[in-house]
Amino acid sequence: MNFRFSDKSLALQEGLDQFFRAEILPRNRDWHAHVSVHGTAPPFLEVLKVEARRRGLWNLGLPDLKDDQPGTRLTNLEFAPLAAIMGRLPWASIVFNCNAPNVPNMEILEKFGSADQKRQWLAPLLEGKVWTAFGMTEPDVASSDARNIRTSIRKEGGDYVIDGRKWYISGASHPDCKMLLVVGVTDPEGGSGARHSIVIVPIGTPGLEIVRPVPAFGRDREFAAELVLRNVRVPRSNLLGEEGAGFAIGQARLGVARVHHCMRSLGSCDVLIQLMRGRAANRRAFGRPIGEFANIQDMIAVSRIELEQAKLLVYKTAWLLDEGDAGAARREISMIKVAVARTYSAIADRAVQVFGAMGASDDTPISAAYTAARVMRIYDGPDEVHLRTLYRLEPNEVVGDSSHYLLGERGL
Ligand SMILES: Cc1cc2nc3c(=O)[nH]c(=O)nc-3n(C[C@H](O)[C@H](O)[C@H](O)COP(=O)(O)OP(=O)(O)OC[C@H]3O[C@@H](n4cnc5c(N)ncnc54)[C@H](O)[C@@H]3O)c2cc1C
Repeated sequence: MNFRFSDKSLALQEGLDQFFRAEILPRNRDWHAHVSVHGTAPPFLEVLKVEARRRGLWNLGLPDLKDDQPGTRLTNLEFAPLAAIMGRLPWASIVFNCNAPNVPNMEILEKFGSADQKRQWLAPLLEGKVWTAFGMTEPDVASSDARNIRTSIRKEGGDYVIDGRKWYISGASHPDCKMLLVVGVTDPEGGSGARHSIVIVPIGTPGLEIVRPVPAFGRDREFAAELVLRNVRVPRSNLLGEEGAGFAIGQARLGVARVHHCMRSLGSCDVLIQLMRGRAANRRAFGRPIGEFANIQDMIAVSRIELEQAKLLVYKTAWLLDEGDAGAARREISMIKVAVARTYSAIADRAVQVFGAMGASDDTPISAAYTAARVMRIYDGPDEVHLRTLYRLEPNEVVGDSSHYLLGERGL
C-alpha cells in the first residue's frame, strides 16, 4: 500500500484548497442567507462553477471518464483528499460537479448506459447542467433489504409501465432534476439477483408525481423527496443495462456513493475539530480557557485519533478500488461506511458539548453536521447491514490448532 499522492493530485489539492479559501468559504454566509429565503442555490453558484472548470477543477471523482469527456480522470486515491477539502462545507462539492447523487448516477450511466442514454443523460450531467435522482427506497417496506422493493415495472407493448411509491429520494425535488433512475420488479418470480431492473423516468412523464420534500431532522438534504408513480409509461429503450440486473447495478452505484460520502465526511470532521480547538482556546470558564480542562483536551485529541484512523481506512479502500480488487474492496467499503459514520457522529457530538448551547444552535455548522452524521448511519445501507456483511466475510478459522490457544479443558 502506498499513500504517496501523485504530483497531479498534489497540484489539484493545492489549487482546490486555494479556491476553497478564496472563493467558496467567504460566500458561505451568503449561500445560507439565500437558501433560507429562496430554497435554491444563489446565482453565484454558476459563476463559481465556470471558474472551477476554467481552473481544471471539474468532474474530479470519475476515474473511468473517456478521453472526450470533461474531467480529470483521477484515481480514487488521488481523489480522496480533494473530496475531503470539498466536504468542509456541505455545498462545496456542487461547485466542482462532484456532488451526490449525481456522481454515482454518472458512474452507472457510464458503465451500463446505451449510447443514446449517455448522449441524453450523461452528457448534460458531465456539463453540470442537470440533476438526477436514484429511486430505490420505499416507505412501505424495509428497504435496507433490497429484495423487499416492490414498485412494479411491467411490459406492455413496446413500453414499461411503472407503479409504486418512493421516498427519501435525494435530488428528486431539485429544480434542475430532469430524470429518475427507478428501481422496480420486472420478474416477480425471479431470485434476488434477477427480480429487479432500473428504468429511466424523465421528470414530467405523466403519472409521476413529486408528492413532497422529505427533510431529515427538519433539514433539507440534497433535495430529498417522496414521489408516486401511477401507470407511468416509458419506452423499453429506457431500461438501464440488462433486465434483472437492477440489484447488481444498484450495488455498483452504492459502492461509489459510500466511498465519496465517507471522503467528504472526513473534511467535515476536520472542520469540527478545528472549531473545537479554537473554542477551547477562546472560551473561558472558572477563570481559565476551557481548553485547560483535561476533558476538553481529551475530546479534541481523541477526535483527531479517530479521524486519522478513519482517514487511513478510507485511503486503503480507495487504493483497493484502484487496484481493481473488487472483492476485497467490498469488505473495506462496509468497514468505512460504519467507521466513518460512527467517527463523524462521535466528533459532532463532542463538538456540541464543547460549544455548549451554541453547539445546539444553527449559528455554527455543528448542528447540521450532527444530523448529517446521524443519517449517515442509515443511508447507503444501515450500519447493521454492513456489520452483518462483515461478520459473514470474517473467515471461520483460527491460525493453527485452536486447542493451543485455549488453556482449559473446553474447545470452541
Ligand atoms: C438523508 C437520506 C438520503 C437518502 N437518499 C436516498 C436516495 O437518494 N435514494 C434512495 O433510494 N434512498 C435514499 N435514502 C434511504 C435510505 O437508503 C434507506 O433509509 C436505507 O436503505 C434504510 O432503509 P429503511 O429506511 O427502509 O430502513 P429499514 O429497512 O426499515 O431498517 C430499519 C432498521 O432496521 C434495522 N435493520 C435492518 N436490517 C438489519 C439487519 N440485517 N440486521 C440488523 N438490523 C437491521 C436497522 O437498525 C435499520 O436502521 C436516504 C435516506 C436518508 C436518511
